[in-house]
Amino acid sequence: MSMALYRKYRPNTFDNIIGQDQVIDVLKNQIKENKISHAYIFSGVRGTGKTSTAKVFARAINCINYDEQKGPCNECESCLNNYVDTIEIDAASNNSVDNIRQLKDTIMYQPSFGKYKTYIIDEVHMLSTGAFNALLKTLEEPPSHIVFILATTEINKIPSTILSRCQKFEFKKVNSSDIKKRLVDILECENIPYEDNAVDFISNSCDGGVRDAISILDQVSSYGNISMNNIDFVTGRASIEDIDSLIDNMFKKNSFECIKLIHGLISKSIDVKKLPFQIISRLIDALYIQNKVVREDMTEVENLKKITNKDTDISKLITSISELENEMKYSNAPDILLQAFVIKQCKEQITESNFDISNLVQKIEMLENTINELKTNRGIIQNKTDFDSGVPVENSKEIVKPKLDNIKPSKQISTEEQEQIDFVNSLMPDINSLLKENKFAHIIALLHEGTIRRYVNECVYISYPETHGFHKNAIERSDNLSIIQRAFSKILKKDLTIFIVFDDEVIEIEEKKDEMIEKIENLFGNQINIEVIND
Ligand SMILES: [Zn+2]
Repeated sequence: MSMALYRKYRPNTFDNIIGQDQVIDVLKNQIKENKISHAYIFSGVRGTGKTSTAKVFARAINCINYDEQKGPCNECESCLNNYVDTIEIDAASNNSVDNIRQLKDTIMYQPSFGKYKTYIIDEVHMLSTGAFNALLKTLEEPPSHIVFILATTEINKIPSTILSRCQKFEFKKVNSSDIKKRLVDILECENIPYEDNAVDFISNSCDGGVRDAISILDQVSSYGNISMNNIDFVTGRASIEDIDSLIDNMFKKNSFECIKLIHGLISKSIDVKKLPFQIISRLIDALYIQNKVVREDMTEVENLKKITNKDTDISKLITSISELENEMKYSNAPDILLQAFVIKQCKEQITESNFDISNLVQKIEMLENTINELKTNRGIIQNKTDFDSGVPVENSKEIVKPKLDNIKPSKQISTEEQEQIDFVNSLMPDINSLLKENKFAHIIALLHEGTIRRYVNECVYISYPETHGFHKNAIERSDNLSIIQRAFSKILKKDLTIFIVFDDEVIEIEEKKDEMIEKIENLFGNQINIEVIND
């Protein structure tokens, strides 16, 4: 098997560590002046060269043929055997007091080949408090032949007592043109064909980490040349054409096309969680176009010009997609969140601009069906055919008939229970005026469509005909439900629980919703509520 590129091209001298000139200059100077410190801390984002620099430094301070420009010769006896005198510890998996004590037991031994023995502790922020304390004692009075190099991506998690005993070096994110230069060097050495814009893309997308950039290069090159097509395939990204088409349809408020596109992308196995980032990057380009600015690194500019409308509020869309990105990160059904978002987005834009009632009704029905489907399938849309084939939602209504858990057919109601129900009904005018006083008139409208069906164990069951799924969903929103609950409890002078059900259905056990469904209901809920107020 071929050696991974990033290992093969790992820097082994000072002059091939890229983008960290300041750090390297200071270290070189210390070697030259023979002012080597006994403890260093290297901080910075992943893949910026902290560990590589530590290893080169460990060889440099022992090298017999040390070169002021290059650093270690990598050929002398000391360089070739440096692995004996360099001890690397990964604190992520060795973070206990015992691990540090074992380390301390070895530091009294002299180095085997050179003048110094170097301990490199990677991810040092992962050490336990006890381990930090044990390390602190060693750092306070280290033997003269010992050099500690602590490396971390999270310097804010290092105790100040440790920090104050180390020389601090900050590794900056490497700028993309330096990364590109390095990638091109590697590609030419390896004789791998490449497209210039594809190398640009990799250099820009690795957030200043050289190692990540080389890793992506490695993966893409195993599919042949370095091209945008191969990058999309390897990284699970959608193509720029698909992203543009999605944005275009969002601008045009065409939720059906959007959903179809998303399903198409899912079937191509693209990574859905990466979509928001891709859309945002493209929307930022669109923002430039809207302001008549074209950046040099933009691609497919003509297409972007075609889809960018001068009136669209692009920055607002960017903000909402960033929020979506966060939610999707922690969701186990990110594709559903994305679809919910797109539908909501398309509807929102309609409400704001060219209001079209028939379109809106269609979309509300789609929302209802989606919510019902979610309930039926516990968060997984199993039947996607209505979206895929573009069949109008009305025709597929029977497949989304809600099936709530633990439903039992309505039992014969006792006279006693009926009397209680009648009593609650007689108090409805009081409940309504309480709601009205507190400016919840929209809830009165929703309640008006429902019927009190059962009154069991201080639980009131309000039911809605199946044709009123819209009202039912709106009233079921947790904020609305708690308002109703408080109003009923206050007027009836007892703690009541309200359940909202469909006609002829009674839930005997409280419905359990998982967090995800609740989130989606909140997403839809807002929209539905707005329409009710307008009614
Ligand atoms: Zn050497």
